[in-house]
Amino acid sequence: MEFETLAVHAGHQVDPATGDVTPPIHLSTTFERSEDGTYPRGYIYSRSGNPNRSSLEQCLAALEDGRAAAAFSSGSAASMAVFQVLSPGDHVLAPSDVYHGTARMLKEIFAPWGLETTFLDMTDPAEVEGAIRPNTRLVWVETPSNPLLKITDISAVSAIAHSAGAVCVCDNTWATPALQRPIQQGADLVVHATTKYLGGHSDVTGGAVVARANDEFFQRVAQVQQTGGAVPSPFDCWLVLRGIRTLPWRMRAHSENAAKVAAFLSSHPSVEVVHYPGLEDHTGHQIASKQMSLFGGMVSFQVKGSRGDAMAVAAKVKLFTRATSLGGTESLIEHRASIEGPGSQTPDNLLRMSIGLENAEDLIQDLAQALE
Ligand SMILES: *Cc1c(COP(=O)(O)O)cnc(C)c1O
Repeated sequence: MEFETLAVHAGHQVDPATGDVTPPIHLSTTFERSEDGTYPRGYIYSRSGNPNRSSLEQCLAALEDGRAAAAFSSGSAASMAVFQVLSPGDHVLAPSDVYHGTARMLKEIFAPWGLETTFLDMTDPAEVEGAIRPNTRLVWVETPSNPLLKITDISAVSAIAHSAGAVCVCDNTWATPALQRPIQQGADLVVHATTKYLGGHSDVTGGAVVARANDEFFQRVAQVQQTGGAVPSPFDCWLVLRGIRTLPWRMRAHSENAAKVAAFLSSHPSVEVVHYPGLEDHTGHQIASKQMSLFGGMVSFQVKGSRGDAMAVAAKVKLFTRATSLGGTESLIEHRASIEGPGSQTPDNLLRMSIGLENAEDLIQDLAQALE
């Protein structure tokens, strides 16, 4: 089945008991045992499994071309579970511009626990190859990256990881499987903040791990999830699955609008530089064209001048909302360095936008008046 069809049908069935076309929300925390003590319907207790979570996990595995998936209560919980599979003394490679929450997790939680991480330029395969150590167990990729939209070659980096006997994980939150399928490019695991485009409506926090194979590593991720308890509620699963049904069409519209906004900003005299992989002069454009079908809805730009000038533009927009996060129907704008806080490497004059589903001309007019 093609992607749009999977997005609508994967993990869906008409409810056998009632004929419900839209799935019911199963709130029960516990499930009946048979007289012989077995669980004939497969469910025991809601921390280890629930029908809404199973539907979402089946759908996520199908969309990412994986064999298994685990849905989590947030993107961060999904990332935590992946690192918790490793042991003290193991070594991880991560991009120096990895999502700031992932960097904080590695530095503040996993470093004291004994996991070593080298942060490097993941867009340079030679640097990745040079940083491999005998104890390197995992290479973390995030492409496009946040907030500079740097592009990492997934197939090149996963080949380097595999020749070192390491696992390659790709955080696919920004591209989504509608635009990029990392497992087909060589990644072993895909991580998502379903809070973003998969949920798609800024109304649910969630995460996921999807695996190429239902192997020992993934079994351990699932064990961390079920034992640690970072599970999504039935309603959260229902909302994410409802969002996924329109994902392919939303990603097309987000990408189309973002391309128009990026083109407008690139020729604006008050803009120093625009970071969007769809622009031909973006350093990652060629690799992005190879591994993505469209370039997504995230655009960052640097205003000519200082932090104050960038803040002034963010203060003047009317249609964009000043808020963090991304992937909803509404356009958001954010001064990124100030949310990342001390130690942020993000340029002070950078604004990051999540381009929503409004008409692109309205968004362009709003930015034009704010940049005046
Ligand atoms: C938001 C985000 C996360 C974390 O997800 P939460 O649901 O906020 O925990 C991880 N990676 C990327 C790329 C993100 O944008």
